[in-house]
Amino acid sequence: MSILITGGTVVTASGTLDADVVVGSEKIVAVLPRGATVPETERVIDATGKYVLPGGIDVHTHMEMPFGGTSSVDTFETGTRAAAWGGTTTIVDFAVQAKGTSLLATLDKWHAKADGNCAIDYGFHMIVSDVNDTTLKEMDACISAGVNSFKMFMAYPGVFYATDGEILLAMQQAARSGATVMMHAENGIAIDQLVAQALAAGHTDPVYHGLTRPPELEGEATSRAITLAAVAACPLYIVHLSARQALAAVAEARDTGQNVFAETCPQYLYLSLDDLARPDFEGAKFVASPPLRPKDHQDSLWRGLRTNDLSVVSTDHCPFCFKDGKELGRGDFSKIPNGMPGVEHRMDLLHQGVVAGQLSLPRWVEVASTTPARMFGLYPRKGVIAAGSDADIVIYDPQARQTLSAATHHMNVDYSAYEGLEITGRVVTTLSRGRVVIDDGQYLGSTGHGTFLARGLNQYLL
Ligand SMILES: [Zn+2]
Repeated sequence: MSILITGGTVVTASGTLDADVVVGSEKIVAVLPRGATVPETERVIDATGKYVLPGGIDVHTHMEMPFGGTSSVDTFETGTRAAAWGGTTTIVDFAVQAKGTSLLATLDKWHAKADGNCAIDYGFHMIVSDVNDTTLKEMDACISAGVNSFKMFMAYPGVFYATDGEILLAMQQAARSGATVMMHAENGIAIDQLVAQALAAGHTDPVYHGLTRPPELEGEATSRAITLAAVAACPLYIVHLSARQALAAVAEARDTGQNVFAETCPQYLYLSLDDLARPDFEGAKFVASPPLRPKDHQDSLWRGLRTNDLSVVSTDHCPFCFKDGKELGRGDFSKIPNGMPGVEHRMDLLHQGVVAGQLSLPRWVEVASTTPARMFGLYPRKGVIAAGSDADIVIYDPQARQTLSAATHHMNVDYSAYEGLEITGRVVTTLSRGRVVIDDGQYLGSTGHGTFLARGLNQYLL
């Protein structure tokens, strides 16, 4: 169906423009300055007083991720639908290699989970948890299959943890192909000692999840990852950066011209250690790693977003219900499933940054859509409103008011990390490849509309 979106303000990473957008089958056909002659279309959407944005791209989600015998509670079906409600039209999710299995078998498994189930388009990163000769060779096959970003962990000894030597080997392999290594940078060896000490002292409440993962150990691991990447000449992307110390390490590396990039997440911009300290085990709702930090880290992160030392905001969406999920850690904070829900609220929460004067309008679009597209090889198919790009478009009402709540959100989880938060701005319409998926409070999409995106290489490499 052809659609004309008229009367709105088109916002892109480079500025705003009063323009009409013409959508044909799946693609944007034209962006016409206001007043230009527009073609006849089957449908006209009046976007007067609204923003017209490229659809959001969330490059860090964990749908139905296996975790200690259970799974994160959003499936690809429910999670991508919730994303669409919030103006996100592409996710890049993590396929998780279990130790002793192959990367390609892992990729097949994740295709089977997502294929035919997604409301919006999706791609994959690969979590490498078992570095050996076979795995290293398989990295190239993953790249050919459209998966060219490999995540590794300096945390979680015995599960995902990789030694510095293993990280170096994987980085050298990635570097040969121009692929990017993504890093969970926390010193898990030291953290495990602090966790054991806390539990031995009878400190079992959720706040100790934060206190046993101090920001210094994120800063140290980030520096070490940067050093290893420099030695291997490998592009490095730090995931879910939360601490000022880690940001300083990234900024320093970027100043020297190293291919180092970083993302943060809304929870680190809006929530803090105080939330982890909420009484009656409620703090468990906020357990994720790295942990929420003391409030004074938030200003540094906003500044990092403005200076581009933080280039992307993703969610690390990894929801576990409070009941029967988070509650597994009553009496032992180390048993609380790690992860928070968020895929639905990223665009809105970042718009609050625009309302509060922390981000400009174009920068909002840049960190939420355009840069993620370029960082992970999806641009210009995604991340921009331009002729020839996929018609992934969000019509956003910047004046609307809404209150975030588990009672009204669409994620398959029984609590909201932002319960009761009043915000300004709301998605009115979401288009995914030319199809109206959300319109005026109604879901009009379909399971299986979303297709797999084979991605190219990082487009920012120096
Ligand atoms: Zn994650």
